[in-house]
Amino acid sequence: MSITPLMPVYPRCGVRPVEGDHCHLIDEDGTRYLDFASGIAVNLLGHSHAGLIGAIQRQAEKLMHVSNLYGSPQGEALAQRLVDATFADTVFFTNSGAEAVEAAIKTARAYHQHENGNSDRFELITFSNAFHGRTMATISASNQEKMHKGFYPMLAGFKYAEFDDLDSAKALMSDKTAGFLVEPIQGEGGIRPASDEFMQGLRALCDEHDLMLVLDEVQCGVARTGKLYGYEHYGIEPDIMATAKGIGGGFPLGACLATEKAARGMGFGTHGSTYGGNPLAMAAGMAVMDAVANDEFLAEVTEKGERLRARLEQFIGNYPDLFELVRGKGLMLGLKMKVESRPFFVHLRDNHQLLTVAAGDNTLRVLPPLVAGDAEFDEFIEKLSAGAASFEPEDA
Ligand SMILES: *Cc1c(COP(=O)(O)O)cnc(C)c1O
Repeated sequence: MSITPLMPVYPRCGVRPVEGDHCHLIDEDGTRYLDFASGIAVNLLGHSHAGLIGAIQRQAEKLMHVSNLYGSPQGEALAQRLVDATFADTVFFTNSGAEAVEAAIKTARAYHQHENGNSDRFELITFSNAFHGRTMATISASNQEKMHKGFYPMLAGFKYAEFDDLDSAKALMSDKTAGFLVEPIQGEGGIRPASDEFMQGLRALCDEHDLMLVLDEVQCGVARTGKLYGYEHYGIEPDIMATAKGIGGGFPLGACLATEKAARGMGFGTHGSTYGGNPLAMAAGMAVMDAVANDEFLAEVTEKGERLRARLEQFIGNYPDLFELVRGKGLMLGLKMKVESRPFFVHLRDNHQLLTVAAGDNTLRVLPPLVAGDAEFDEFIEKLSAGAASFEPEDA
């Protein structure tokens, strides 16, 4: 047998973390890495947040899991918290981002199909280079063929328009259109924020034609951009939104949020999840909300984002052959490179003990824990500068 016990779907690197310490990860051989990947925008409170750890410990001792057959005081409390803090009236809890997007897709379809409604409106218009997860529905929702290969047929009901191009979205509309599914700031696609005109244009089209605006905020949500959710930057509200990653701070948790109107098709028996919203997950989610869902924390993220961005702008000026620009919002930042970004990301990791994330469009993702401060930013710029100075692009 040559297959590994861990199904070999990930090209795992040699870093093998066994311990976290605030904004650092410690490898099994004792090497310390500065973690500006945060488990891909998950560990927003770093790796040793007393509030989050304590909440999980206390809940684990009390009650970890019960079935959704029973009443859920813990779920009601976190759902109310999210309802109070967002556009939403109701929340379905999941264990991951893809499941949150799945629930969002089902909610959008059910809006049109509920009670002998318009069952022809099942198509969601999605956008180029989107990433919505790895289930059958969520890979079908992305135009990226590399995720489709080997898994055909894709689920019907998705049309792909150009990201940030309102006319291309309009051109795909028909009497089958149920709504739009979009990341306000593309993560895997290369930290690409949509324009105000685009997001407001989609909102207007939905209002005009009674369609669902479905946002995938799995990566850009939960204070990452300096707002609790990314849509707040655009002066619009969605009908349905998927959130995950940061919402559990490292505990597997996601949610599909919706307005009362949008959720009209989601009655008894329409959806479910054994683990979704269990007491342990709710404790983690509440601890994260306690830490981030306040003006002071959000203002700090904005201010830190501005400081880090200014330092990155200054840094790339020293390496005009390597870097093109800095983009993103808050502490969701991307360095678009003029050379392939993946070898640079590997070089930073292996030679300078700096963890970032590679993304599409030759972009290096910079996703520090939101609790990082000047000491971590200093270390980051130091490692990044040393990395840039010692880097020899393969195609140079
Ligand atoms: C990570 C991500 C997902 C999928 O989340 P999983 O928890 O991996 O299922 C979906 N959408 C976006 C925008 C993401 O970044």
